[in-house]
Amino acid sequence: MEDTVIKKCSKCGDIARYSPNFNVHRKNGCNGDLIQCNISDDDYITLWHIAKDNDFFQAMIDLKEKDIIEYNLKMSQFRSQVQQKKSRELQNDTTPRCPNCRSSNIQKIGGLERAGSVAMFGIFSKKINKSFKCNNCGYTW
Ligand SMILES: [Zn+2]
Ligand SMILES: [Zn+2]
Repeated sequence: MEDTVIKKCSKCGDIARYSPNFNVHRKNGCNGDLIQCNISDDDYITLWHIAKDNDFFQAMIDLKEKDIIEYNLKMSQFRSQVQQKKSRELQNDTTPRCPNCRSSNIQKIGGLERAGSVAMFGIFSKKINKSFKCNNCGYTW
């Protein structure tokens, strides 16, 4: 993955991720100079999941400069918040998925295909009780 750094536009105050050699803020024709901020890419992504707000990013950048202990404390709180949010999202994810590879690229095996497999393999066909097929790995269940 390409390295990214966090930069702030000196004109409009927008804080975002940029490639290291990108120095002009192009968004909305702003053309302001970009100044590198002292937070890591990982920290920025964590903060971004908490609040997509320039003032909030700036407050955390200031805090890191002023009080690194408090900053690290806040960052670890934010990190666990983001983790909890992610695991909640995973639990609430009701998309049917392949139990083998977790792909959501699955299809219902229609009555026709099932009837076909009964006709071909008889009553002992393994396919008989299965109603889904994974288009990713071919698993049926
Ligand atoms: Zn700007
Ligand atoms: Zn699969």
